[in-house]
Amino acid sequence: MAWLCSSVLFWGFHWQAAHCVLDQNPENVELARFYCFTQKTISKRLVLRQDPSVKRTVCKRCWTLLVPGVTSTVRQRRNGRHRMTIVRCLSCGLTRRFLNNPNHQLWVDQPEAQLENCSQPGGMGRTSLLSFCCLYCSCC
Ligand SMILES: [Zn+2]
Repeated sequence: MAWLCSSVLFWGFHWQAAHCVLDQNPENVELARFYCFTQKTISKRLVLRQDPSVKRTVCKRCWTLLVPGVTSTVRQRRNGRHRMTIVRCLSCGLTRRFLNNPNHQLWVDQPEAQLENCSQPGGMGRTSLLSFCCLYCSCC
């Protein structure tokens, strides 16, 4: 189990390292991209699901860490009755749209998801970096 915990820490380290690299020098996009790609590879091998807050900050096409104003642009648009947040990657031009619905709640934030994770330790429930500890160390 120790190898698993160290792998998870190593996995979380890559996302933080990508942020640190871009904070120090915004031209280090390639190194940050390498960290994001490596993190995705590790999550695939360990069968970990990324938290939506992490997942939405990485471009799906070119693995660039999306930092508003540095590697991406963020715009608010209205499409009919719906308001949207449009994030555009400055490296490859991929755009992603997220609905701005204040009543919308992600599945991972709903109480049912938390119960599912705790009732099935090591199961196939939604796993995030924060809830991974609870799944495998049975602390709750
Ligand atoms: Zn991109």
